[in-house]
Amino acid sequence: MRAELRRIADDAARRAGFRVCEIEVLRGDGLLELVAITGAPHAASTPGSSHTLSPVWQVLQEGTRYGDFVFLAEEDMDAHLQEAIGSYGYVPPALELPDPDRWRPLDMLVAPLTDGSGRTRALLHLDEPLSGHRPRAEQLLDISTHLELVLQAVLATVDRDELTRRARLDETARAIVRAASERLGAGELLARVQPELVAGFRARSVALMLDEPPDEPGKAPASSAQLPASLRPAVEAATRRAWQSRTVIIADPGRVWGDDSLEQEHLQDLTDHLLAHDARELLLVPVGAGHESTGVLVVVRDDQEDRWTEGESQAALGVGHDLGRALLSTRAHEREQQLIDQLQRLDEYRQQLIATVSHELKNPLGLIVGHVEMLEAVPGLPKAAATSVHALGRGTSRLTSLVDNLLLLSRISNPDIPVVGLPVDLGSVLTQVVEDESLRAERQGVTLRTSVSDASCRVTGEPEELRQVIANLVSNAVKYSRTGGSVTLCLEQRGDEVVFTCADNGLGISEEDREHLFTEFFRSTNAEALQRPGTGLGLAIVWRIVSRHGGRTEVETQLGHGTTFRVALPAAGALGDHEG
Ligand code: ADP
Repeated sequence: MRAELRRIADDAARRAGFRVCEIEVLRGDGLLELVAITGAPHAASTPGSSHTLSPVWQVLQEGTRYGDFVFLAEEDMDAHLQEAIGSYGYVPPALELPDPDRWRPLDMLVAPLTDGSGRTRALLHLDEPLSGHRPRAEQLLDISTHLELVLQAVLATVDRDELTRRARLDETARAIVRAASERLGAGELLARVQPELVAGFRARSVALMLDEPPDEPGKAPASSAQLPASLRPAVEAATRRAWQSRTVIIADPGRVWGDDSLEQEHLQDLTDHLLAHDARELLLVPVGAGHESTGVLVVVRDDQEDRWTEGESQAALGVGHDLGRALLSTRAHEREQQLIDQLQRLDEYRQQLIATVSHELKNPLGLIVGHVEMLEAVPGLPKAAATSVHALGRGTSRLTSLVDNLLLLSRISNPDIPVVGLPVDLGSVLTQVVEDESLRAERQGVTLRTSVSDASCRVTGEPEELRQVIANLVSNAVKYSRTGGSVTLCLEQRGDEVVFTCADNGLGISEEDREHLFTEFFRSTNAEALQRPGTGLGLAIVWRIVSRHGGRTEVETQLGHGTTFRVALPAAGALGDHEG
């Protein structure tokens, strides 16, 4: 852009008959940057230098308009403006002409270049007419007509440059969004987007300062460490304000744009840092999404680079937003992962606790059972003592079955204990369970109906575990039936599976309870069901055993009408047959 504007400036000076032509581009926040100068002695004014817009603005207000140009004569400026213009851009030496129309050092002839939306984007100055005389009104109008296309070329060049800069930052924003979709940790995310940030901001370095440092120091994003300690207070002070006003703060040596308090309090720190690093600009770009700020990007830019523009600031806010959103979702993901880990550890602890406690109960319980049996066999026990011994017997057998269930549950929940793969004929298992249950069913007035298909119903697995599955389902069906009810048991091979169905027309289960049926220790919320003794372990055991045998457990139920449990296990020899 600079080379092109330099050529345009040469051309403009030649066409207008002036020695010097300067082109300034308006950057963010009322800052003018000299981007091209022709015809001036080398040391007079260097491209890259900058000043505020306000003196020229006053000239534009007070001067006389000639087409695209405005002229203000030195003697028409007040002392204040003369002083400002005296240190502004190139000031030619005074001419030794006696002519009252001679060109004076502070005379200003400038064309403001405004884009389609009315925004002033650049200024073109002409200085030192070759004739040494101030052009007359008609000459000024002529100059304006002659330079019309030249001025358009300046605007087009500045526009194209702006678009290129924005496109670069848009590419950075896209790279951030792409990286965010990969669910990386915060550190990895920043390492991944760091080169894109440096390229997008045309920066020497980009550091991210987080509002909330990561929990684990090891996970700190690599770049935050790069910020020198002397700059931290300044950056911290500015971060909150940059976020609140959603602005990019720009610091030059000796000047801060966009944050007056920062200028008052920390200008020296910022200037020292920039000078020490031979850097031109420091940008503070707020990072965050929605209402949540996550930090600030500290961008240090080189002396060789063009100045930052207003359009770039807008695009940079977009980058800050996308980065903020990516960091917030990374943070949420990390928290979710931590919670999952915590829950897993808690679950392991719980299982360990159950296993240990049930093991510890097993021995004293065995002792009690032995002694109760011994006491029951003592002849001639007084009646009251015999009643107590029977009560003890019933209590200990309930306790034994609870402990047995807990031990079984902890064994089948342990992934380190594999299923032993023995051939099991589920038909005979069912017959045996029905035999065991028939007495209780009869006592409760519940009819048991069994239908076993002729085809073999063999599966591979652990015989005792599979017996437990069928026993638990049948005993529940009987237990949760009403007098006069019936339980239908059916065993058949369907395709590659052996399917056991246990259907009753008993109490049924509510919709809410159904979701928790297979959770350990869950007991129904239904008062009628709760009257029947139970521990809430039976179905949890069924579900785990069936799962570890590669099968599935399903339930259909309607409160007040009955329940059907269905267990499907891979048939022995079937494809995908479960092997321990
Ligand atoms: P429990 O020892 O309480 O029977 P389970 O794990 O075997 O424990 O069953 C959990 C709950 O599921 C029971 O409390 C009961 O409310 C309900 N339930 C299980 N089977 C049936 C069934 N066949 N009919 C109605 N409710 C049942």
